[in-house]
Amino acid sequence: MPLIPMRVLLDHAAEHGYGLAAFNVNNMEQIQAIMAAAENTNSPVIIQASRGARSYSQDAYLRHLMLAAAELYPKIPIAMHLDHGNSVATCISAIDQKFTSCMMDGSLQEDGKTPSSYEYNVSVTREVVEYAHRRGVTVEGEIGCLGGIEDDHGAGLSEAEVQAHLTDPGQAEQFVADTGVDALAVAIGTSHGAYKFKKKPTSEVLKMDIIAEIHRRLPNTHLVMHGSSSVPGELVDLINDYGGDIPETYGVPIEEIQEGIKHGVRKVNIDTDNRLAITGAIRKVFKEKPSVFDPRSYLKPAREAMQRLCEERMIALGQAGNADEVPILTLEDLAKRYEAEVR
Ligand SMILES: [Zn+2]
Repeated sequence: MPLIPMRVLLDHAAEHGYGLAAFNVNNMEQIQAIMAAAENTNSPVIIQASRGARSYSQDAYLRHLMLAAAELYPKIPIAMHLDHGNSVATCISAIDQKFTSCMMDGSLQEDGKTPSSYEYNVSVTREVVEYAHRRGVTVEGEIGCLGGIEDDHGAGLSEAEVQAHLTDPGQAEQFVADTGVDALAVAIGTSHGAYKFKKKPTSEVLKMDIIAEIHRRLPNTHLVMHGSSSVPGELVDLINDYGGDIPETYGVPIEEIQEGIKHGVRKVNIDTDNRLAITGAIRKVFKEKPSVFDPRSYLKPAREAMQRLCEERMIALGQAGNADEVPILTLEDLAKRYEAEVR
């Protein structure tokens, strides 16, 4: 089947009360790992690429890898999403490269670092929504700022500063009315990267009550949790046991993500966990078999480790078992739906 708009997956998830992991990719092995996990668990999937990923792998490679995934797994609905578009031009270029969904992150200015004004955010997001919806493409916006930096994107806020940039539920409601986004990323205390919390997060630093309040005000908007890797201790230990040096760190516990899903979270961004799984597997081979030099000898276990992690998350978030339940609507179908809504 063709790559389908992310909105179709989010609508199905909302109707049936589950969440979807959105996994970041840069290369073939990561896409293969996600697709094998999707096949094993009968899961619809969101595969996303950041600006950093697009410049690392080049759009043409990415596009053809995604089309290969769609060809090899005709029963799995796949949405291809741009993570953290920094400008209208970046989003338009992704749509022109066949992404079926894009994020316009106007919470930061075009440099991807400086927090922006509400008016700026509305203006750029609105422009992307107009371009995207005419083509049936889904749009995710962001209101409030997350902590950390990943792939050169982020304000680099500290754990304390993050608390000053949390999403205001009233402003979120206004933002959706002003822009018409399909999905909204909210800042509830999470950060990008591996170093999210210095200890297991409590409700003091991870504000799940903000999600509940936003969902109460915006029951029809799909909420997105960014920076939602769980950073499993066993993966950090594996890396460190085989020569790595990762300080003690904590992510977002799975049970908090599941709590979010009860309150309208439909997309959960996971990147760090897969990076950790891949790195641990490669380090283990390098340490145990120092004479190997065929890249397949370490990329294959790395791919398997990522597949296992993806399967665990697909089951925990509830998307497992839903691939053959999702109605298949095309970009053209969605474009017609958006047009009817505007009239
Ligand atoms: Zn993010």
